[in-house]
Amino acid sequence: MPFKPSEKEEEYFARQQVELKRKLAEEARRKLEAEERERARQLHFMKCPKCGMDLEEVAFSDVRVDKCFSCGGLWLDAGELDRILDKEAGFLRRLRSIFA
Ligand SMILES: [Zn+2]
Repeated sequence: MPFKPSEKEEEYFARQQVELKRKLAEEARRKLEAEERERARQLHFMKCPKCGMDLEEVAFSDVRVDKCFSCGGLWLDAGELDRILDKEAGFLRRLRSIFA
């Protein structure tokens, strides 16, 4: 005699399937987002956000400035502005004189 689940059991198993498929869809969405972020990072890494040309890193003291020699933009990584502000007042003038 085959097993015949009750209505409650049928609901329970259906809910389990729905929950599992929802989790799998969420995982697939997260994986796709991560891949898109990585693709965007590779596409834009060390590219000028204004003109799209390559950025060149120039080190001065312990500050690393990313410079676009195409449009003249200067870009700082996280924490570098604070590092510059922590230095003596003349540092910014000296930094500016390098790129002038
Ligand atoms: Zn540029």
